[in-house]
Amino acid sequence: MKSKSKSKSSALDEIVNDLITLMENGVKPWRCPWSASDAMPRNFSTGNEYSGVNIFTMWMYAAKFEFSSNHWLTFKQASSLGYKVIKGSKSVPVFFYKSYEVEDENYDDGRKKLVKVLKNFRAFNIDQVVDEKGNPVKVDTSNSEPPISGDIFDAMEKLKSEYSEKSGVRFVTSGGKAFYSPSNDKINMPDFSLFDSEDGYASTLLHEILHSTGSEQRLNRFTKQNAKYGLKDSYAIEELTADIGACFLGSYYGVSGEVENHASYLASWLKQLRNDKSLFLKAAADAQKAYTYFFSILDKTSKRAA
Ligand SMILES: [Zn+2]
Repeated sequence: MKSKSKSKSSALDEIVNDLITLMENGVKPWRCPWSASDAMPRNFSTGNEYSGVNIFTMWMYAAKFEFSSNHWLTFKQASSLGYKVIKGSKSVPVFFYKSYEVEDENYDDGRKKLVKVLKNFRAFNIDQVVDEKGNPVKVDTSNSEPPISGDIFDAMEKLKSEYSEKSGVRFVTSGGKAFYSPSNDKINMPDFSLFDSEDGYASTLLHEILHSTGSEQRLNRFTKQNAKYGLKDSYAIEELTADIGACFLGSYYGVSGEVENHASYLASWLKQLRNDKSLFLKAAADAQKAYTYFFSILDKTSKRAA
C-alpha cells in the first residue's frame, strides 16, 4: 500500500491533542510569550508572517519546545539555503486553503463552482536547523521593534477613546466584572486598581474589545455561530476566538498578560473541543477576521502579510 501524506484531520488532531494536553497540565498555550523582537511567527526565507491558526500553533510549539525564535521554514527551504534539519526534529503542520474548480451539482449545464479545501505542509523552527558548518542559524531581529513602548495603561486609554470614537462601542468602568454587552454595545471594565497588573488589565480589555467585533452591526459573529453550532458550542467558540484574537492584538500592542478572573469557561470549551476538533480552526479563523476588522476600524493596516 502506498503511504499517504498526512491528511488534514490527522494534522488537526495532532494540534488539538497537544493543545488539550498542555491545557490539562495547566498551561494556557495561547498566552503568547511576547518578546519585543520576535512577536509574530514568520517564514525565515520569505520574511512573510504566518496567519490565522498558524500563528497560534507556532506560538504553542515555540513555547512547548522552548524555541528561541519565531522564524520557521520548510525542509525544502532549509535545503535550498544549504542548511540541514537536525535529525529527530519534529515539524509542525502549517495550514492553508486551496481553491479548486469543481462541477456545480446544482446545475446540469456544466457550470463550475469554487471549493476551498484545507491543506497543510510541515515547517521547522530555525532552532531545529544548522548551517553548512553545523552551527546554529542566526536570526536578524534588529528591525522588529515593539509597536508601542512606554506606559501600557496610557496606550490602552488612548486605544479605548480611539476605538470608541470609530466603532461606537461605549466603555464603562464599574463593578468587578469585565464583559461586553451586545444589547448595549458597551464594554464594562472594573477599575484599573482592581487588576493585579497592567498587563492583566490590558489583556482583559483586548479580550473584551475582541468580543465587541462580533456584534450584529459589525462582523455579526454571534448570530452566525449560534445558528450554525447551537448556543453552547458557539459560546465556546466565541471565548476561544476572543482569547486567540486578544493574543494577536496583545502581540501588536506589546501586552503579554493573562485575562484576569476569566478561567471558568475553560473546562466548558475544552470539553467541546474534544468532541469537535474543527471548532479550533473555526475559532482561529474568526479571531483572524476580528483582528483584521479591528485594524480596519482604526484605519490601520494590519501587519499580517498572508
Ligand atoms: Zn470572554
